[in-house]
Amino acid sequence: MDSVGVAAAAPDAGPGPAWQTKCPWGAPSTTSISCSLADVMSEQLAKELQLEEENAAFPEVVAAAEGPFITGENIDTSSDLMLAQMLQMEFDREYDAQLRREEKKINGDSKVSISFENYRKVHPYDSDSSEDEVDWQDTRHDPYRADKPTTTPRRGFIGKGKDITTKHDEVVCGRKNTARMENFAPEFQVGDGIGMDLKLSNQVFNALKQHAYSEERRSARLHEKKEHSTAEKAVDPKTRLLLYKMVNSGMLETITGCISTGKESVVFHAYGGNATEDKVIPPECAIKVFKTTLNEFKNRDKYIKDDYRFKDRFSKLNPRKIIRMWAEKEMHNLTRMQNAGIPCPQVVILKKHVLVMSFIGQDQVPAPKLKDVTLSSEDMKKAYYQILNMMQQLYRECNLVHADLSEYNMLWHDGKVWLIDVSQSVEPTHPHGLEFLFRDCRNVSQFFQKGGVAEALNERELFNAVSGLNITADNEVDFQAEIEALEKMNEDHVQNHGKKLSTFSSDGDPPIYDE
Ligand code: ADP
Ligand code: MN
Repeated sequence: MDSVGVAAAAPDAGPGPAWQTKCPWGAPSTTSISCSLADVMSEQLAKELQLEEENAAFPEVVAAAEGPFITGENIDTSSDLMLAQMLQMEFDREYDAQLRREEKKINGDSKVSISFENYRKVHPYDSDSSEDEVDWQDTRHDPYRADKPTTTPRRGFIGKGKDITTKHDEVVCGRKNTARMENFAPEFQVGDGIGMDLKLSNQVFNALKQHAYSEERRSARLHEKKEHSTAEKAVDPKTRLLLYKMVNSGMLETITGCISTGKESVVFHAYGGNATEDKVIPPECAIKVFKTTLNEFKNRDKYIKDDYRFKDRFSKLNPRKIIRMWAEKEMHNLTRMQNAGIPCPQVVILKKHVLVMSFIGQDQVPAPKLKDVTLSSEDMKKAYYQILNMMQQLYRECNLVHADLSEYNMLWHDGKVWLIDVSQSVEPTHPHGLEFLFRDCRNVSQFFQKGGVAEALNERELFNAVSGLNITADNEVDFQAEIEALEKMNEDHVQNHGKKLSTFSSDGDPPIYDE
């Protein structure tokens, strides 16, 4: 229950709970309803309220304001509402525990097992005990806000004069409320109070009702997602929970499916949800989930281990954290590129090893990779010059080498080339940075030379054009040797003078390799 913020309850709550004014069933503005159980049960007060309420016009529809749910600010354990909700959560938890026991009993040691997963009532946001879990409730508005106005029941009363008993009579009402709980969704656990002479105050009943409805809706939403999205099976339960939270918080509207399953990542398409105060969510998003199966990442160590930006952290981290670092790296690199005006996905949010960015493509169809698209010779030439320009910008303005640049990581969209997949990108002074750049140049040259762009520079010319270096070797082997010599020189420089000297200064000084 801690994650819903009960622990943060203010010890001295003000004169009335904050939600009172926001309750969707409202209270006539002239009335001041007290919320303590004793007050609610007081006959005197009930009659007063009844009279006042009858004098006032009965609004047919009460506009739904913010739901009366537990959010960070609205904590008041003295309220019946709060207690009811806490009780409900406890019911849910017990129900789930019981379900788990039954599941276990039925399955025994059988190799074929059945799952009660879909019947669970669990509250996803308080079911994860991971201590470093991001709490979505912190940053989001209440995702369970009622989205339909709630109608007030019709007026009705029996008796005459002083003995009038209306639907507002507290005892009748309490009993009725208890009975009406049976009308909640069949799977909604109302406890075993139904058989007793239990009287629920209107407030408590309404809160429970609202809670039941919103739980029902949310449950349906979760179960629907689960059943329709086979793509999500590609990710582990923790990741799935992260994705659910993104949907439940309203940040994403729906996750439609998987676009790509690679060795190191799975990419999903999603429709963007509601903007927050500080973020506009693009209408379509790509979610890159870095795989947490570690062996795939072993061969990537060389990129990050020698990247001084991550050097201090690398040795201390466990493999799970290293994978998060890949996601973080991609985010930082994309941001640098965005700032330089290079067409690339825009970062939306990073949560652990899950990176949400804008989707390059339209209507769930990702833009084709350069290797899959057939361009006119004119477009091909245009693409080539654009890439030459982007590689220079990347090197000079972003201080980055893509390090996996090829027709597989360039998308053709909107009549231009977009760069993606930059988690492995490094700074040029990375111990292997120039080798990576040379490899990128080789890929690009070969692709465009084969693609019939007569103007395309060869890989060595392209390397010099991008880096501003002037390596004169006229064959690949010697060129490669010179590159390695430069890298060695830089490493020695780092050894002797400390690593910061090896980076380029921001005012565009020539790189150290020019020395
Ligand atoms: P990997 O490391 O698996 O190659 P990528 O970042 O290259 O990861 O993503 C894999 C594929 O997913 C890409 O080839 C592309 O088709 C698709 N993809 C990735 N990001 C986006 C995006 N922002 N918009 C559209 N498609 C994307
Ligand atoms: Mn890729």
